[in-house]
Amino acid sequence: MNRKHGYLGVTAFVVARDTPGLRLGEPLMKMGLKSSPACSLYLEGCRVPAARRLGREGQGGAVFQASMQWERSCLFAGYVGMLERQLAQAVEYARTRRQGGKPIGKHQAVAHRLAEMKLRLESARLLLYRACWLRDRGAPAVAEVSLAKLAISEAARLSSLDAIQIHGGIGFAADYNVEHMLRDSVPATLFSGTSEIQRDLIAREMGL
Ligand SMILES: Cc1cc2nc3c(=O)[nH]c(=O)nc-3n(C[C@H](O)[C@H](O)[C@H](O)COP(=O)(O)OP(=O)(O)OC[C@H]3O[C@@H](n4cnc5c(N)ncnc54)[C@H](O)[C@@H]3O)c2cc1C
Repeated sequence: MNRKHGYLGVTAFVVARDTPGLRLGEPLMKMGLKSSPACSLYLEGCRVPAARRLGREGQGGAVFQASMQWERSCLFAGYVGMLERQLAQAVEYARTRRQGGKPIGKHQAVAHRLAEMKLRLESARLLLYRACWLRDRGAPAVAEVSLAKLAISEAARLSSLDAIQIHGGIGFAADYNVEHMLRDSVPATLFSGTSEIQRDLIAREMGL
């Protein structure tokens, strides 16, 4: 790394798991994404041969940005799937759970909440498809990828709260396969760049 050149002085390397000086921290205790263990990585006096360099010297920033674009697209497709399943589950519950002599889905407040969930799902899905289509064509897609990541992660968080509300008390109970979607969604607004950073990227692409 050449500190004089700041961001442009960073070079990317592959650090093999068995490199002396690479140490993994203890697994983090997390609120969600329990099937995806995470920990800190420590690089202490690691010596990495030039043969393990990714790209050319000083291209680390570009390598990072390119890989983040793919991560922000592909990883979040899983959340679109979650939104789809969550909506189907909430609609089914609203059709079958009865209160006040009718299914709760016949109460406008519940039906409108489901309509908002549908709107979030479909707009997030279309933004993701557009971003991936552009990436497949090799076209620049910084704003499009950030728009998709922001829309999907915020939709996942908001719609998970809506799903809990629609399920009432059982939505909060760990046995009913509803609340875990909120716990899994909150980190989506953090990893791969927080929602604030996505908004910054979108604003920058608009020339601000
Ligand atoms: C489940 C999970 C998995 C992760 N996986 C990885 C991984 O594989 N690899 C990896 O390297 N990291 C990973 N991370 C770390 C993640 O990328 C960071 O947590 C995230 O980028 C935020 O950085 P930070 O935690 O240092 O928060 P900070 O940067 O300290 O931010 C704290 C708050 O300040 C806001 N903020 C910071 N800077 C600005 C700014 N310039 N303008 C406006 N607001 C700002 C942030 O948006 C946030 O709200 C993971 C995190 C989670 C939760």
